[in-house]
Amino acid sequence: MTDLQIAKTITLQPITNISQKFGIDPDDIEMYGKYKAKLPLTAIDREKANKSNLILVSAISPTPAGEGKTTMSIGLSEALNQLNKKTTVVLREPSLGPVFGIKGGATGGGYSQVLPMEDINLHFTGDFAAIEKAHNLLSALIDNNIQSKTNSLRIDPRTIGWKRVVDLNDRALRHVIVGLGGTSSGVPRETGFDITAASEIMAILCLAESLTDLKNRLGHIFIGYTYDKVPVFARDLKAEGAMAVLLKDAIKPNLVQTIEGNPAIIHGGPFANIAQGTNTVLGTLMGMSHSEYTVTEAGFGFDLGAEKFFDIKCQSAGLNPKAVVLTTTIRALKYHGGSDLKSLTTPDLKALKKGLPNLEKHLENITKFNVLPVIAINRFTSDSDDEIELIKAFAQLKDIKVALANVWAEGGKGAIELAKHVIDIVESKASNFKPLYNWKADVKAKIETIATEIYGAEHVDYSSKAKTQLNQISALGLNDLPVCIAKTQKSLSDNPKLLGRPKDFIITVREIEIAAGAGFLIPITGDIMRMPGLPVHPSSEGIDINDAGEITGLF
Ligand code: ADP
Ligand code: MG
Repeated sequence: MTDLQIAKTITLQPITNISQKFGIDPDDIEMYGKYKAKLPLTAIDREKANKSNLILVSAISPTPAGEGKTTMSIGLSEALNQLNKKTTVVLREPSLGPVFGIKGGATGGGYSQVLPMEDINLHFTGDFAAIEKAHNLLSALIDNNIQSKTNSLRIDPRTIGWKRVVDLNDRALRHVIVGLGGTSSGVPRETGFDITAASEIMAILCLAESLTDLKNRLGHIFIGYTYDKVPVFARDLKAEGAMAVLLKDAIKPNLVQTIEGNPAIIHGGPFANIAQGTNTVLGTLMGMSHSEYTVTEAGFGFDLGAEKFFDIKCQSAGLNPKAVVLTTTIRALKYHGGSDLKSLTTPDLKALKKGLPNLEKHLENITKFNVLPVIAINRFTSDSDDEIELIKAFAQLKDIKVALANVWAEGGKGAIELAKHVIDIVESKASNFKPLYNWKADVKAKIETIATEIYGAEHVDYSSKAKTQLNQISALGLNDLPVCIAKTQKSLSDNPKLLGRPKDFIITVREIEIAAGAGFLIPITGDIMRMPGLPVHPSSEGIDINDAGEITGLF
């Protein structure tokens, strides 16, 4: 059965029941139909949240299909609930880019899913649309200001870094010229589109802790310079109020349910390769306010999402995660050991062994944050017993907890052993989270610490553009911001072709975007694009709807 077919066999509970179970009076939620709701920010209780055990689910370097972090996060939270630990899974909202591209949706798989999966994977509660509108409103205000004679800030169009966004993979929009058509249609200038998940507004929404904080961050968005080289911010266009109004509902976390009828919160954006990529701080705090355990995910691999989760999100919001579940698949390890994508379902102990250094590096990286890991082997039907034993033996040799997790086939029942390991780690109080770097360090030092310590690079090269931008950052007084590196998820390096545990490589910083509102800098490495493209045969070719409104082909 496909994920969608499995989802269809489940009788959903009204969202009011789920809200009751979560601990919020159904009268206080805003219903979006029968099965989705927005939760009020007043239901966040920082004191209670601080008592919740935050568990991060991450992964080794993935194959293009994803290794099952979302599926694992959902299965683990079902298992913890089965063990009578009140648990909420807090996830990211899917982007339409992958839904119609190559990877598919982001609502888990098999018997570990959040529901209603079609809604969540499509427009959901409109958060992405609101983010897109708020972002593009600022773009329109900028072009309008350049057009105006009486209200002009004299922005030099050639210095504007602020683009437009759309939530689709559309490479043809990466570079565009706007303002064509004569004097009444604007001033021609070169700009481009990023995917909505990579929007600074998404990052702002993900890190904001209140509406006021949101508005302040929106005002801080750096746009470019005037002809007199004075920096221009969104507040100079009086944009932040109107942008915040567009986000008034998007800021509220969304409540849905898991297959086993447990509460799940889905809020904020994906893509840790090109963005900060974790769900919202408010969503996490909402989950933590009402649960003993809160399970969240960050990826693609630990090198991208988890590093940002720890160094940006946890630091920014004062979160203190207690354990990391490292989702590991036999197929990805074989891929990193040299097997090609088509033969990953064939048992191959030699390739698996050759891929183990990738797992080893991610485990080393987890310990750099002083948090204890547990390896979750995400079971695929093609895995052989010998292959599973090989990973278990490797873990035992390293004295690291390991569990085979069959969450895809069995839901929570398949993750009981994993959940017990997680509880053991939490109860041992052995984790004592510390970030990798101090925000106050020099920007180059921050980039180099991540590149050498986490990616395993020899050193970092900067393009001449990046060097100029480092000077700009310094002149703007933004040295103390953390860095959110954009890098391919396919490799620990910035070269997608270097699999396994590459060594002796150089990370190249091509340019550095300034996200002063979100509160970080974005060094862009290698050839990574913040607007993805579609594959030759996109998933959209298999998606359809019939006259009864029944959807097929979503996964
Ligand atoms: P991630 O969050 O790491 O990107 P997902 O949990 O979204 O990964 O899983 C990616 C895809 O793989 C989904 O379509 C999911 O249904 C599928 N999947 C995950 N785990 C398994 C498994 N154990 N067996 C089969 N398919 C799986
Ligand atoms: Mg995921």
